[in-house]
Amino acid sequence: MKKAEKDPIKVMVVEDSKVTMKVLCNYLERMGIAPLTAENGTEALEIYYREQPDIILLDAQLPDIDGFDVALKIRAQEKPEDWTAIIFLTSMDKDEDLARGIEVGGDDYLMKPISEVVLKAKIRAMYRLVEMQRSLVTLTQELNAANVKLQRLSATDGLTGISNRRMYDELAPREWRRCERVSKPVALVMIDVDFFKLFNDKYGHQAGDECLRRVADQVGKAAPRATDLAARYGGEEFVLVLGETDADGAKWIANRLRQQVSELNIPHYATESRHVTISCGVAAVVPSGNVSLEVLLKSADYALYQAKKSGRDRVEIGVYGKVE
Ligand code: GH3
Ligand code: MG
Ligand code: MG
Ligand code: MG
Repeated sequence: MKKAEKDPIKVMVVEDSKVTMKVLCNYLERMGIAPLTAENGTEALEIYYREQPDIILLDAQLPDIDGFDVALKIRAQEKPEDWTAIIFLTSMDKDEDLARGIEVGGDDYLMKPISEVVLKAKIRAMYRLVEMQRSLVTLTQELNAANVKLQRLSATDGLTGISNRRMYDELAPREWRRCERVSKPVALVMIDVDFFKLFNDKYGHQAGDECLRRVADQVGKAAPRATDLAARYGGEEFVLVLGETDADGAKWIANRLRQQVSELNIPHYATESRHVTISCGVAAVVPSGNVSLEVLLKSADYALYQAKKSGRDRVEIGVYGKVE
């Protein structure tokens, strides 16, 4: 449970002597703190798990589990962001016992009988540490959130919101190697908007951007499996990377995408159907030492060129290695 910077600071007193407990509680109440209290080690651990106090005043000698063991148990399961300050209360003034307290994870100690002034000073000091710890946790969380955002930004295309070329360059080889390990084909689908230059010229660049966004939405939905990738390859070109998919499967997906783009019904004077259409080139191969992703991409690109040449608004299957 992470603590926000503004949560009130919780103090727990663990002390089996009723008199000492009462004195300590009085001191703390005078500081405006209403402490949690435990009379033995078991109870202390129960309250610790439930309430996650920030500061524990921990009697070294308790009737059941002694204070050192309580501290050890707390430290053993504590997450770095949930650090609790532990101040040992001890009537022992032997150096070894003080050393033991620090060894088991204590942060400070108070010698009995406890002076109100010293208690106040130590609680203040621990308060400052707890607050520093909390702002550090908040800072770390903000940093992590910023990193996630940065990563997302550097992975997505600014105009369309789908993956960018960088992601293709990073993920396609990974998918290629994965499919090589399982001896399954990888398919690439290269997608290009038909007569898009004319679209821009006629309807304006802004309408062109909007059109690309809508086409990209469909491209993004075309490859729903976790291992699939849909990316803007550049300009008005997109690419699908489909793992464990052969050419026929990829052709089927490409044709469905072509249909969906066509159903967007974005008017375009220059195409045969009078609305925006795409052409696709498909190529697939089982990765091995003799073939390469680069040649597969060229094959898909060549198939796309064929689709353009034979009339657009269609899908052509290329043969791996056939790159003209
Ligand atoms: P073809 O059917 O042969 O693909 O013809 P085309 O006009 O689509 O081909 P070409 O590659 O000549 O034109 C692509 C156009 O895409 C040119 C460019 O102005 C436009 N384009 C590229 N990126 C963007 C973009 O981010 N926004 C807009 N609005 N247009 C873009
Ligand atoms: Mg005791
Ligand atoms: Mg193009
Ligand atoms: Mg084009």
